[in-house]
Amino acid sequence: MSEEPILLEVEGLGKVFAAGNALNRRPVHAVADVSFRIARGRVTVIVGESGSGKSTVARLIARLIEPTAGVVRFQGEAYVAKVRRRELSRLRRRVQMIFQDPFGSLNPHHSVGYHLVRPLKNYGKARAGAGVRGRVLQALEAVGLTPGEDYIDKYPHELSGGQRQRVVIARALIVEPLLLLADEPTSMLDVSIRMGILNLMRQLRRDRGLSFLFITHDLASARYVGDDLLVMYAGQLVEGGPADDVVERPAHPYTRLLLSAVPDVVHNPFASDRAPTGEPPNLAQLPTGCHFHPRCPQVMEVCKRVAPRRVELGGGHFAACHLNDMDYAARQDGTIAQEAGNGASRRKG
Ligand code: SF4
Repeated sequence: MSEEPILLEVEGLGKVFAAGNALNRRPVHAVADVSFRIARGRVTVIVGESGSGKSTVARLIARLIEPTAGVVRFQGEAYVAKVRRRELSRLRRRVQMIFQDPFGSLNPHHSVGYHLVRPLKNYGKARAGAGVRGRVLQALEAVGLTPGEDYIDKYPHELSGGQRQRVVIARALIVEPLLLLADEPTSMLDVSIRMGILNLMRQLRRDRGLSFLFITHDLASARYVGDDLLVMYAGQLVEGGPADDVVERPAHPYTRLLLSAVPDVVHNPFASDRAPTGEPPNLAQLPTGCHFHPRCPQVMEVCKRVAPRRVELGGGHFAACHLNDMDYAARQDGTIAQEAGNGASRRKG
């Protein structure tokens, strides 16, 4: 994928929530066996429909919730289930999160300056006031709020949605993180303002070598900013790799359907009016075999019973679909047919 050193490594990450009441507890498999890496200075995008588990992955990496399986390594340091307070603080300084809602992310009673000084204090980076104002102004100007003096004393209600999201990004940047987890940072903004935020992400990556994990349901944004693309469905990664490769040679029917729904603004060879039909599955009652099989236009009998394996397709591109692994599917189909035959003979005997 990239020659740059690996910053983040996620291996076998899983999260099971308990749903229902005390008499009827049901496990909800929000994230299952998710593995990927982010190299330094890369923008990796996780794309998927709402409820696919993509935001849960970001929250698991930031340790806002604890995983039930797997390990997250940041700069080689492993973070498994329980993380001590000191380790957590060290992780959170280097990995900052940007949330979807710039309105809810800022306290209406405090000024922009207050919001930016606070993380400096929390992480022990504000020394007796010296230089603090200068750093706040620098952070504001780094996100395009120029001159910073015009914004530092303003309150959130005095800013537009795009300006608020820039303040949220400045607040994350001020502690000098290496990775930003951006969870749908543009979805609540007007279309005209979205492009400004996406361009800001590209600029921060270029000028500061920052890495991003960008979570979105919008494949057009994903294509615009992403170096690497991961496609998530029902809590699992179904395809991933260098963004150009995934977009030009999608190997999973779900990715093809997502691509076909992107408007053909420039040239999209998959453009059609075929968006994925049907509803995403209930994570408490996942379909057997391939979880996508009830919606898949290329479904085969084996798909209903056997989960596909993740297959490497070269150059860091992978997909989990039997269509890329027909020998395995045929072997599994044979095994199933044989088991069914054995069962029938036993019943006759
Ligand atoms: Fe479709 Fe089968 Fe591939 Fe799943 S494994 S995406 S059902 S073809």
